[in-house]
Amino acid sequence: MSYKNFPMVPRVIFGRGSFNQLNEVLAPKRLGINAPFIFLIDDVFKNNSWLKSRIELSYDDKIIFVSSKEEPKTSQVDALVEDIILMSKERPSGIIGIGGGTLLDLAKAVSIMLTNNGEAKDYQGWDLVKNPALYHVGIPTISGTGAEVSRTTVLTGPEKKLGINSDYTPFDQVILDSELTKDVPKAQWFYTGMDCYIHCIESLTGTYLNAFSESYGNMALDLCKQIFLEDNLSDLESQEKLMMASWHGGMSIAYSQVGVAHAMSYGLSYLLGTKHGIGNCIVFDHLEEFYPEGVKLFKRMKEKHNITLPQGICSDLSDREFDIMINISLGLEPLWENALGKNWKKIMTPQKLKDLYKKM
Ligand code: NAD
Ligand code: ZN
Repeated sequence: MSYKNFPMVPRVIFGRGSFNQLNEVLAPKRLGINAPFIFLIDDVFKNNSWLKSRIELSYDDKIIFVSSKEEPKTSQVDALVEDIILMSKERPSGIIGIGGGTLLDLAKAVSIMLTNNGEAKDYQGWDLVKNPALYHVGIPTISGTGAEVSRTTVLTGPEKKLGINSDYTPFDQVILDSELTKDVPKAQWFYTGMDCYIHCIESLTGTYLNAFSESYGNMALDLCKQIFLEDNLSDLESQEKLMMASWHGGMSIAYSQVGVAHAMSYGLSYLLGTKHGIGNCIVFDHLEEFYPEGVKLFKRMKEKHNITLPQGICSDLSDREFDIMINISLGLEPLWENALGKNWKKIMTPQKLKDLYKKM
């Protein structure tokens, strides 16, 4: 048996208001006056002077606002890298991603592609990145995906939706300031928060489970139950706890895997562009067969927060379209193996998967 030797985020700041320390964190990392810091920020903050006033731009530093309407694409990463090369006199000092999973993943991918040749799609897979990424910082503004701790950046490419999984992907620095999450709309709070809950259920019930993943998974699951089922938390406590749940949920899957909901949700995302959080919720709602306890609790949380999920999103799909989704989904072998064991192909046949999709 050979055990995996995973990197972790080496530096993290946690605390309400800690975003104010960003400038002092970055200062020693500046490589020179011609090597700018590039801030990739969710464009939801474009007119947010509260956030912008906290970022001190010096020399050639630039803010690039990016829409998170669609999930990150390999072509989008390549275009951003090209723009950054053209606008910078020298290789940048660092990339700072500010936003949800979408912006965090873009920042990771851009920092990798600034030091590696070719196109982002060439690196989708496991351990294909050759050179260390540029210094990169992740600052989540919505909690749940665990993208702030993970060793992957999930990208949709021309042929597949698959992460760049590598030792160079994790952030060099993360800033966890729950104040940044205070204006997240309620429904989005639920969808992205449920991503974390689903990470826990899929990790804790998977065949890859081990004490490392279990301990993080249990911590995150306990926090999710407090946040989504109890009434006694203040907004501040709830925001801070969800930030930590996201972190622990991400740590849990780092040393195990996700499962059926993620494998199916990737199919929806690839074909229909369904976003990760809501896609996971749509799928998980129909997975009692695989996660009876987890789905029961999910339905209670959904009800408590008056969330109505879209129905019938697969009702008008052609056989060809179903085949595309099924191929994407069944291609994620480690997820299925984790969920259903080594003989998963006998359980999850293409027909069975199609029947499941048809319910959604
Ligand atoms: P997101 O980043 O797409 O953001 C969701 C919405 O919330 C957007 O409309 C955004 O503008 C808005 N938003 C974010 N912060 C806000 C704030 N403070 N106030 C108001 N609005 C705010 O969503 P997400 O669920 O965080 O991330 C989904 C992405 O993460 C997907 O692309 C998925 O593939 C990826 N993901 C990555 C990993 C990983 O380990 N790398 C894990 C899970 C998911
Ligand atoms: Zn997820």
